[in-house]
Amino acid sequence: PRQLVWLRSDLRIHDNTALAAAAAKGPVVAVFLRSVAQWQSHGHGANKIDFWMRGVSAVKEALEGLNIPLLHRDIDTFDAAPDALLAIAREQHIDQLHFNVEYPLNEQRRDQAVRETFQQAGINVHGHHDAVAFAPGSLLTGKGDYYGVFTPFAKAWHKHITPEQLALRDTPAVQSPLGIDSDPLPALPTFDDTPVDERRWPAGEHAAGDHLERFLRFRGRHYHDQRDFPKVRGTSELSPYLALGMLSPRQCFQAVMSENGGRLADGDKGLCAWVSELIWREFYQHVAVGFPQVCRYQPFQSHTRGLAWRDDDEGFQAWCEGRTGYPLVDAAMRQLVTTGWMHNRLRMVTAMFLSKHLLIDWRRGEAFFLRHLVDGEFCANNGGWQWAASTGTDAAPYFRIFNPTTQSTRFDPDGEFIAHWLPELASLPAKARHAPPRDMLTTRDYPAPIVDHKAARQRALDAFKALST
Ligand code: FAD
Repeated sequence: PRQLVWLRSDLRIHDNTALAAAAAKGPVVAVFLRSVAQWQSHGHGANKIDFWMRGVSAVKEALEGLNIPLLHRDIDTFDAAPDALLAIAREQHIDQLHFNVEYPLNEQRRDQAVRETFQQAGINVHGHHDAVAFAPGSLLTGKGDYYGVFTPFAKAWHKHITPEQLALRDTPAVQSPLGIDSDPLPALPTFDDTPVDERRWPAGEHAAGDHLERFLRFRGRHYHDQRDFPKVRGTSELSPYLALGMLSPRQCFQAVMSENGGRLADGDKGLCAWVSELIWREFYQHVAVGFPQVCRYQPFQSHTRGLAWRDDDEGFQAWCEGRTGYPLVDAAMRQLVTTGWMHNRLRMVTAMFLSKHLLIDWRRGEAFFLRHLVDGEFCANNGGWQWAASTGTDAAPYFRIFNPTTQSTRFDPDGEFIAHWLPELASLPAKARHAPPRDMLTTRDYPAPIVDHKAARQRALDAFKALST
């Protein structure tokens, strides 16, 4: 009996739970539904959508190598998914539908509607948990609640993880040809923004696997010491591949274990620190399910709902364009807009600058990030923003506000990252790049700080204190 696999953000043939389960039951037909209007309404921009579609093209080729045809349908929004899939299921005499679950609320609702439509049509639907080791709801506190704090979540994760959860799923064998052609992939509509050069982010599981291997070989063991320095490129830069499932977390865990004597929680410090980041990723996916208010534009900490965010279009624009007069912030924003990616340390610095120094609603920053990030992913992005804005799970306490200049001297000590992204400051002595003195600025095209750190900090503290009174 024929199986239909609906690919979404799991664009790979290796270690793909839904694909493996389907192939174990019968010949497989795969489908991808492109819903550009829906993705844009979620805020994804050209970088991510372009990378996504290049990933579809890569997986199509890989599937064809297994004689699995990939059908393609354009739908505007998620509402059209049930009918589009049912039509295919009928045309292709499908016995069962398989997909890997996506956890944000709109995706869950879409999948629920598909389940209902298929149930009425008498076709079984299997939602597989693939992007996480623990299905949300299966790792809970002693009281039976979802974890709202990372450290106990990570402890429980390590305590309960089993070899079966980490085992790679079977790659389907080459099947007998079904006599069905894959659909040609239509060109993408043009976007307002031009996507970043594809050589910066080659798509597909081959590229992802190469990246992983190189990271573990050359940088994995140094990760703990180098991960905070943006100029060093000490992190894996695998986030776009993980976000679209061109790489699975299991593949990452397995690769770590083979380098680290079969262990994830102890052994090499660098590798263990990296594992912990992968668990953060999983944590935020659980948070999106356990606390669905975060998917509805609400803060995780409900008492922060009334926070008096400032309406400051000029400040927001300066932040977006990298013109705040704080070089590390500005360099980071230029990295984001130019490459579609930003170093984690700088995501924290820039997000805190927007939400604390400018006291601008974090949701504006969240949307701007999503528009530019090639790795834009709701759960991690929302989690990161709410962390920085002190409205989230495990958030930075509101009074611990990064000083952007101190962050700069600590994490870009020689001002090299700044000089790379702000060539207008490159000729300054290294030490002057963190906070260029005004007399140097007048001759150069670089703005003075748009806010004073101390005053801005106090304004943020006052706004947060006003909440509890
Ligand atoms: P590495 O340091 O090599 O980490 C390995 C992997 O672990 C990453 O690829 C990523 O999948 C995961 N990971 C690492 N840190 C985190 C984290 N803090 N939260 C969740 N997962 C993590 N990550 C995204 O994938 N998409 C986003 O849209 C996103 N938005 C963010 C917004 C803000 C404000 C902040 C503070 C963080 C955000 N992150 C996001 C998390 C993190 O910054 C990126 O995952 C990381 O910088 C990606 O680089 P890397 O692949 O080199 O990470």
